[in-house]
Amino acid sequence: MSCRVLSGKNCVVTCVYGMRTHPVTGVYKLHNGVDVVGTGYTLALITAHTAGTVEYAGYNSVLGYHVNVRLSNGDMMQYNHMTAALQVATGDTVKQGQIIGTMGSTGSSTGAHLHFGIQRNGEWIDPEPYLYADYLEDEMTYEKFCEYMIRYEAERNAKPAGYAQKTWDRLKKAGILDGSRPCAPIERREFGLVIERLGLVKEA
Ligand SMILES: [Zn+2]
Repeated sequence: MSCRVLSGKNCVVTCVYGMRTHPVTGVYKLHNGVDVVGTGYTLALITAHTAGTVEYAGYNSVLGYHVNVRLSNGDMMQYNHMTAALQVATGDTVKQGQIIGTMGSTGSSTGAHLHFGIQRNGEWIDPEPYLYADYLEDEMTYEKFCEYMIRYEAERNAKPAGYAQKTWDRLKKAGILDGSRPCAPIERREFGLVIERLGLVKEA
């Protein structure tokens, strides 16, 4: 199974959603989406996660070449930093899995990756749980959303040691520990996650 925003590849998350120091501006603020590259840290074609209408396809100096897709439930999905070769235009309708562009490093970016965001009721939410998930295939109710989150947490908690090792490996591979990754320095959330999962600190 490939990640729903990359054509034929799994997603490697290089920067999670959350507060961080921006690598270009140095400002501490919310990283309002998730940064991904393809398996093995490779480039990929970008595919629409979910069907919708292209509300905007174009360029600005921060987001680079980007596409905003409005879904039927009112949510908005955003795909940033693509190359100039966008495959859709403002006003187009897109199907799930349709190629919308190519991974790039345009706008405020230090290396080729896809920044993927989901905006719900005007607020950016954490899109990581949805990278592989059927999203709005049919109506997403609050109950279904809770159910999904519980399953996501349960899978993560099923093998805490394995999850810790995976996260640790991911941090190392992404260059977080040597400061070379695009999203350095390590976020409090990531650090806390690893420490907790490795069981290095006992609860008081
Ligand atoms: Zn990003």
